[in-house]
Amino acid sequence: GGIAIGPAYPVDRDRVSFPRQVIIADDRVDQERERFQAAVVDAGHELRASLEHIPDEVREHAFVIESHLLILKDTAFFDHVLETIAAKRINAEWALSQVVDQTRAAFGRVADAYIRSRMADIDQVSQLVLRHLTGQGIWDWSQVDRPVIVVAHDLSPADTIEINRSQLMGFVTDMGGRTSHTAILAQALEIPAVVGLERITEEVSFDETLIVDGTAGLVIINPDEETLAEYRAKQERYQAHTAAVIRDAHLPAVTRDQHSVSIEANIEFPEEMDTVTEYGAEGVGLFRTEYLYVSRTTLPDEETLFENYDEVARKLHPKPVTIRTLDIGGDKFASSLTLAPEMNPALGLRAIRFCLRERGVFTTQLRAILRAGARGNVRVMFPLISGVTEYRHAREVLDGVKEDLAAEGVPFGHNMPVGIMVEIPGAVAMADVLAREVDFFSIGTNDLIQYALAIDRVNEHVAHMYQPFHPAVLRLIQASVLAAHQAGIPVAICGEMAAEPLCTPLLLGFGLDELSMTASAIPHVKRVIRMLSYEECRQMLAETLQFATSAEVSRFVIGELYARHGDIFARDGSVRV
Ligand code: PEP
Ligand code: MG
Repeated sequence: GGIAIGPAYPVDRDRVSFPRQVIIADDRVDQERERFQAAVVDAGHELRASLEHIPDEVREHAFVIESHLLILKDTAFFDHVLETIAAKRINAEWALSQVVDQTRAAFGRVADAYIRSRMADIDQVSQLVLRHLTGQGIWDWSQVDRPVIVVAHDLSPADTIEINRSQLMGFVTDMGGRTSHTAILAQALEIPAVVGLERITEEVSFDETLIVDGTAGLVIINPDEETLAEYRAKQERYQAHTAAVIRDAHLPAVTRDQHSVSIEANIEFPEEMDTVTEYGAEGVGLFRTEYLYVSRTTLPDEETLFENYDEVARKLHPKPVTIRTLDIGGDKFASSLTLAPEMNPALGLRAIRFCLRERGVFTTQLRAILRAGARGNVRVMFPLISGVTEYRHAREVLDGVKEDLAAEGVPFGHNMPVGIMVEIPGAVAMADVLAREVDFFSIGTNDLIQYALAIDRVNEHVAHMYQPFHPAVLRLIQASVLAAHQAGIPVAICGEMAAEPLCTPLLLGFGLDELSMTASAIPHVKRVIRMLSYEECRQMLAETLQFATSAEVSRFVIGELYARHGDIFARDGSVRV
């Protein structure tokens, strides 16, 4: 997000070129193997140096570089290169590039788009080793002696950290996507960036002026004076706006007519707790627990899980923390669990279905969650519940674990509230019955939209049909909230929809008790809530529910917000800065 304006600094980091040699003599084979091993060691030194230079405020993202170090340590991959050198009698560079090509082909066959995109990490690590092998292009970032906008084919996460931060105003790259690690780091460092531009390195020359509008995903090359003035003003407004919004992060989320709603954070790691507190969250509404299962090759034990959950519960006490049990499968991948490839993973052995099958994995996690709840501020939540039977099965397992802990005399949360994610249309149809048996609902709109409209949430070809304003989605949310409130239980929403200011009036209108979202969105959503009245939200929602299409809904919502709150919302529905 944000705007950077400055001189372009193209860095020629694309591909390292190297000779392809067939080697004949036996001692040359050994030499090549040794040369390769030395390059891997040097690459490791370079990455470890980057780790030491990582700025404190993004230390939590050090795992990105650690993951590159892990790739370097992957003996299967590098032994394969050593074997290829010996078997084909070719030079190290050529052997490495052959093994990378084979790996790329294997990755290309993986259905999961996220895993496929991780090939970028292997590419970056291989390029690093190739640079050490050939001695070319070992980039010395200290050459950059003034603030610039870096233009590159690709930047590795280590590059992003190595460039002296005061010199890096922004960056643009040919490669990359929303979930690439480099993009994740840019967000954490709050550096305006646009990635995945495909040909930007061909379009820009040294020292040309660039405007990088990270919020709009726009790059302007050699702007005229008028455009430059316009963006300078925009940049100032953006900076002042963000600072002001964050300054008010701790004000309560209460409408003008005193209706309050709890604003909570979605997290994946305990390291996020500082941001969560800084951005004014009133609790953690969704603790996604997949990370400890996907970041390692063995299953985490009870103690590891307990320490992880307990850290969050302790830091936030007495504020509430909702821990979701493992939601593995579907588009989420576990390296420590062997999941069979499935034709339709989103409809396969995922989440609670997986846990009910793998009882050992499930009970270990439940023990850790219950123990972390000993202070009384933890709630447990089951994902992807499709109906009553499934919930009862999960509940039986939980009750069994509680009995065990009690018999062992281990402290735990005896009265821990138990809730479900409402994210399958079948669960909405059964919401009245479910609401009588559970303690709370949390609506997962990411999956609810996927299953209600039959849109694969990771397939870019149907991304345009992923519509939170689809009347079917609105009706499903309405039915869930009504059922919950009739049974007297609270209901939250924790899908991405909760982070979208344009959706806030409708979500308030539904009477949701809690909105849970990525921490950085919290101050912005709170600000919108403070300027709305509950009454107008209810009126807007009532009218909205009369429409037949999502286009009508969004035209109406945008029009109303512009007319009523033109100081905050622009004519196109974006938040004014
Ligand atoms: C959801 O489905 O809306 C949700 C919050 O869960 P996840 O994105 O982890 O599937
Ligand atoms: Mg979900």
